Amino acid sequence: MVGEGKELNIYLIHTKDKFTKKLRIQLVVLIVLILALLIFIAGYSIDIIRNNKIYKQYEEQLAILKQQEIERQEAEKQAKIPQLTEQGKENIKNIYHSDTKRAFLTFDDGPSSITNTILDVLKQENVKATFFVLGSRVEAKPDVVKRIYDEGHYIANHGYSHVYENIYASPQAVLDEYNKCNEAVKNAIGVPEYNSHLFRFPGGLVGGKYADIKCQANELLEQNNIVHVDWNALNGDAETNNLTIDFELLRLQETVQNKNSIVILMHDAPAKKVTAEALPQIISFLREQGYEFKNFYEIIK
Ligand SMILES: [Zn+2]
Repeated sequence: MVGEGKELNIYLIHTKDKFTKKLRIQLVVLIVLILALLIFIAGYSIDIIRNNKIYKQYEEQLAILKQQEIERQEAEKQAKIPQLTEQGKENIKNIYHSDTKRAFLTFDDGPSSITNTILDVLKQENVKATFFVLGSRVEAKPDVVKRIYDEGHYIANHGYSHVYENIYASPQAVLDEYNKCNEAVKNAIGVPEYNSHLFRFPGGLVGGKYADIKCQANELLEQNNIVHVDWNALNGDAETNNLTIDFELLRLQETVQNKNSIVILMHDAPAKKVTAEALPQIISFLREQGYEFKNFYEIIK
């Protein structure tokens, strides 16, 4: 009986040992699992923190780039809004004088059906010109005026109607036509602050039936911070109804002569298709003569 009790005890001890060993192993496995889980969570958290940081930096850089782009666009927009400074007025006074050879291509009486062809040529030749637009024509073709503006040409003012009896009825009528044309331009290009400050009298400032009115009107314009410019060279496209490219080139050569600074009168009215056709040769001729092309953005500011 005593022997049996001993055996039972040994059996119980063995069982207890086995149980404790199993428990220990399970405990160790559990601890290892918990540790692995903790390491995984820690690693994952570090990743999230790191990614958040990178994302934040990326967002900050993106915000800086967006701001720079807004500032660049604003500066570009401002640069295209003419500001007539005292220096600008002085430059206009001296428009026909320059140490270097420079040419201002100017187109009056548009926009019309041929203006887009002229713009295509200017784009191809990488030349910036100046367009003296008519308010009534601007209202008819605002999309073309927008293109003129977007492509970096200068939009100047040629009044609204081009009807001499109307525009030269009084000095105030000239200013009214200037303002009416300017309104049309602002609407067409979508820039409420736009003012070209630059006028060309239909028929030119000097002489003619309305010489006195024009002279008084010029003073009134100056009081309103508007300067005027005529021309000292032309392609003769207002001189005949039988225009040819050769005729235009000849008139250009005759009027350019040996002038250093030339403001060339041309027209983009509907009937001046030949002017659009002659333009590549006009540009070539002027380049061969050593002229550099300018528009009034470089003068008015
Ligand atoms: Zn005109």
